Amino acid sequence: MTDLTSPDEILRFADFDLDPALARALTEAGFEKPTTIQQEAIPVGLEGRDILASAPTGTGKTLAFLLPALQYLIDFPRREPGFARALIMTPTRELAFQIFEQLQILTKHTTLNCGVITGGINYGSHKDTLEKNNDILVATPGRLIEYMNEESFQADEVEVLILDEADRMLDMGFVAEMDRIISDAKRRRQTMLFSATLEGVAIERFAKRALKEPVTVEAESPR
Ligand code: ADP
Ligand code: MG
Repeated sequence: MTDLTSPDEILRFADFDLDPALARALTEAGFEKPTTIQQEAIPVGLEGRDILASAPTGTGKTLAFLLPALQYLIDFPRREPGFARALIMTPTRELAFQIFEQLQILTKHTTLNCGVITGGINYGSHKDTLEKNNDILVATPGRLIEYMNEESFQADEVEVLILDEADRMLDMGFVAEMDRIISDAKRRRQTMLFSATLEGVAIERFAKRALKEPVTVEAESPR
């Protein structure tokens, strides 16, 4: 087996031993060489460990958390219908749709379904998304909590929780919503927290509440 412990030795996505459906989607989308944060975070994520990651904007954090989550969902398929098994929280509608687009590209050759839930969209129009038993849901905190309060969504089946731009969600005042998610998703096996920075009392405290023995991954340069 290839030794994945040294990030320097990883040059291509093919070295990660991903499911062929994911590998094919990456190739078709033109992704060949993982960025630094991807080289460091993907092996840790594939082991199922919690991750505390920071890297500047534009360094490819989305693939760094999506690939381990998708590989897990493929390796351990759903046994019965239910709510989302992977939940990605992100601060804005724009970011949610960007992640959703990447998800659609990556899941093209799989049987996994993805949905997106954000504010700024007619409340009732999410009914289909919530009823469809999506494997993966991307959501902004405010609107998701509204659905949780009316029991249209339950987070207790979430196995993989991803907090994207966690620092920004905290800055925007979503701490109560984020705490609600981590407390409801209590049976999760893995949490990955991504942030532009890991400095500051709010992010440090939240990370302590959200993560179990996390591996810290920091990257400064994109490649
Ligand atoms: P971040 O979340 O760190 O700001 P994104 O995940 O949004 O960054 O990625 C930024 C851009 O880089 C996107 O257009 C994405 O498609 C592209 N990208 C990500 N990973 C790679 C890669 N390994 N090779 C080439 N382009 C990539
Ligand atoms: Mg991002």
